[in-house]
Parts: sequence; structure tokens; C-alpha cells
Amino acid sequence: MRILLTNDDGIYAEGINSLAAVLVDDGHEVIVAAPDRERSAAGHSITINNPLRANDAKLNIEGLSSYKINGTPADCVKLGLEKIIDYKPDFIISGINDGPNLGHDVLYSGTVSAAMEGFMLGISSIAISLAVKDKRDFNQGARHIGKLLNDLYSISIEKKILLNINIPDIDYDKIKGIKFTVLGKSLYEDSYEERVDPSGNRYYWIAGRYNEENIDINSDVWAVKNGFISITPIKIDLTDLQLIGILKKITK
Ligand code: MN
Repeated sequence: MRILLTNDDGIYAEGINSLAAVLVDDGHEVIVAAPDRERSAAGHSITINNPLRANDAKLNIEGLSSYKINGTPADCVKLGLEKIIDYKPDFIISGINDGPNLGHDVLYSGTVSAAMEGFMLGISSIAISLAVKDKRDFNQGARHIGKLLNDLYSISIEKKILLNINIPDIDYDKIKGIKFTVLGKSLYEDSYEERVDPSGNRYYWIAGRYNEENIDINSDVWAVKNGFISITPIKIDLTDLQLIGILKKITK
């Protein structure tokens, strides 16, 4: 398969390098186009007022072409497809992210947004995140994805796919299986810590609070917490069709 690989943790992050190594080893043709630095929580932003440059990243994987780009994950996908490769890849893969992207957090995620961008541009796309705990074993996550890829490819021929995959950070053989899930609620409850700088001025720093109450058993959050790989099919259309029907009353 021909794969365009990106991420939001930056091109030298462990996750993307582990995945690139496994995919190349499995015989896939991989091109990496990824941000030159960490852009986590960049969401779907793109660069419009500055020039973009794509330079050789010289990743240490034989047979791999890699480009570091001074833009966001979505920039990397757009530029990669238009200027770096001259064919339509079989997949855009984004990851493996250092940390989970579950529930409503997909809306902040640069990892997931890169996959969404690929899908919007007509390519089947997959976002992959490791729900990092103590192990931080990106290689085992990459091996799970490598195994799944042929099956996903068969499906993508029938229907273009956009998937958000989260892998628990546990031993390879302790993974209980795969659950096809819905997006749950955010795993973190954001709160701002208030601090005081040396000049006596207040400032605020976002801090996530872990919330494990009322987890829907059909959700991605539940699956990963219970040792399953979570695969959530997602879509771009945010339209609330039901509300259209209700709003129409206004014009009567
Ligand atoms: Mn990230």
C-alpha cells in the first residue's frame, strides 16, 4: 500500500517513527510529511499568512522519504497531497499520537484533524493514538495497526473510511480485542489553574482533570479503559438534521 504518514507530535516523535518503521518493514511504500515541531491541540487549523517549507527530515529508516513542514498537521496533509506526492495514496495515517484522543477531545486533536483533512481530500484516513500510561510502547501499537491494515484496505475499496483508533498502552498479548465504538464524553474535564507570576500578576494554565464517571459502555473511552483497541468511524458533517426540522417552525 502507499501511505502518507503524518502526526501532531512532530516528525521526530517516537510514535510516528515506530509506526513508519513497522509499515516500511511490512512492505508498504511510506512517505512522511509531518510538522517540524509539536503541534498537539492544533485542531484543524491551517497556515494562511506565512510561507510553508518542506525540508528533508532525514529520518533514520531505510527507504523512507520524510519531509518536515513548518505548519500544522492539516497543512502537512494538504501540502503533502498537492506538492510532495504526485499520486493518490491508499491511506493517510496520522499518529501514533502520544496520548489518547477520545470522545469530544477529537475536536481539539491535531492528530484526528489531519485524518479528517485527508478524508475531505478524498482519501481514506486513519488517526491512531496510544492511550499512554507507564509503558509508552509505541512499537506494539504500530504492530497492531500493521495487522489491521489489510482488512481496513479491503473495506476502504468499497467505501472511503475515516477512523479514529485508540490503543491501550498494555502488553501486546493482553489486548482483549477490538471494539467498534461511538465517541464518548471527554475523558478530561478542563480546569484552569490560577497562578501568580514574579511580578504579582495572575495567570492561568489549563490542566485536565480525569473524569471516570458515567462512562457509556459503547464508547471509545470504555473500550480503551477495559483493554480493547477502540475503532470509531467518524464523519465530517456536523449538521443537526433534527434541529433543522424544529427550526423550520420559525418561518411559518
Ligand atoms: Mn499530540
